Amino acid sequence: MLSDRQLFQRHIGKPSANPLNLEIVRASGVWMYGPSGEKYLDLAAGISVSYLGHNHPVVVAAVQEQAARYMHLMVYGEYVQSPQVRLAGLLARNLPETLDSVYFVNSGSEAIEGAMKLARRYTGRTESVAFKNAYHGSTQGALSIMGAEQYKQAFRPLLPDIRLIDFNDVEALDLISEKTACVVAEPVQGEAGIVLPAESFLQKLREKCNETGALLVFDEVQTGFCRTGPLFAFQETKTIPDILVLAKGLGCGMPLGAFISSSSVMQSLSHDPALGHITTFGGHPVSCAAGLAGLEVLLQMKDSLMIHEKEMQIRKALSHPMLREIRGRGLMLAAELGEGEVLQKFVRKAIEKGVVTDWFLFNDTSFRISPPLIITPEEIEWTTRRLAETLDELK
Ligand code: PMP
Repeated sequence: MLSDRQLFQRHIGKPSANPLNLEIVRASGVWMYGPSGEKYLDLAAGISVSYLGHNHPVVVAAVQEQAARYMHLMVYGEYVQSPQVRLAGLLARNLPETLDSVYFVNSGSEAIEGAMKLARRYTGRTESVAFKNAYHGSTQGALSIMGAEQYKQAFRPLLPDIRLIDFNDVEALDLISEKTACVVAEPVQGEAGIVLPAESFLQKLREKCNETGALLVFDEVQTGFCRTGPLFAFQETKTIPDILVLAKGLGCGMPLGAFISSSSVMQSLSHDPALGHITTFGGHPVSCAAGLAGLEVLLQMKDSLMIHEKEMQIRKALSHPMLREIRGRGLMLAAELGEGEVLQKFVRKAIEKGVVTDWFLFNDTSFRISPPLIITPEEIEWTTRRLAETLDELK
């Protein structure tokens, strides 16, 4: 009989030749536990997923209750399913009124596909504009707008009519035109290694979309659910997108994605042709029950999460000569070490010390600090002390 670790080696298809190989048997709050009781603080939160930490009791209860009531009933969008419609209603109540129609899917990539299709269908145009170093997913439409050629070349031909422009370059916005169906942007770039938008860049982007009739799509797959402070990062930017894309935290630990627009834009997927986007499992009732329970808890505790105080505590505790800078906002941070090899050593040593972090797809010199939002000041102190010790050992 093979051990789980051997089964992982032998039978799991993997995207990387050198996976972290960490075996976790249980998780609770900010902690994950290995088979021999090893304890790790989770600084990645499954990449912005577990905002309430692992296995929040209210979310677990909602999952159990919904699984016992019903699981899959029918392909998406035909039946009235309580967890799905209530989650859509709660999202709409917390969004501007132009974002009132929620199309649930399974993942961030699928939500991006849906958003791009919706924009093309609504505008009758074909071009999509996106930003260099942006990551929007791994399916072929999302891959087409990925801002990193080295991951795309082997899969060409991809979608035609794609333009990639520099993030924070106001002049490059002139390439958005009356041919553009949509501009897809992360309000804070995640896999680029956490890059903040320059002052008023997103407002200028909004203005350019208004001038040309292109739909503005914000990918808040990583930034959503208070990661940068507000419920959604765009709420701090005075910029409202035409389509909002969510995933990761949306299911609070269960798989769920969504693209959200006004009802008048969304209705273009239901005629000429009908069934403009269809999905069997999109908006799975158990995922929606988890997402709804999680969002209700988050909305209640939002003001007591002290995201910015926690950011300040982390920044202060990690002012270390090995760190060139800490980029980001709220609990979406990247600590820059400057060298890939040093970072690889750092991440593995930090795990030995009980802190799990990782690097970014397009930046392999920084490590990620995006813990569950419920992390306490004591847990931050525990973690930053271990990170500082790890940095000391690298000197
Ligand atoms: N957009 C962003 C900003 C992401 O970070 C990711 C995932 N890292 C995706 C889209 C794709 O989401 P998924 O992996 O659920 O397809």
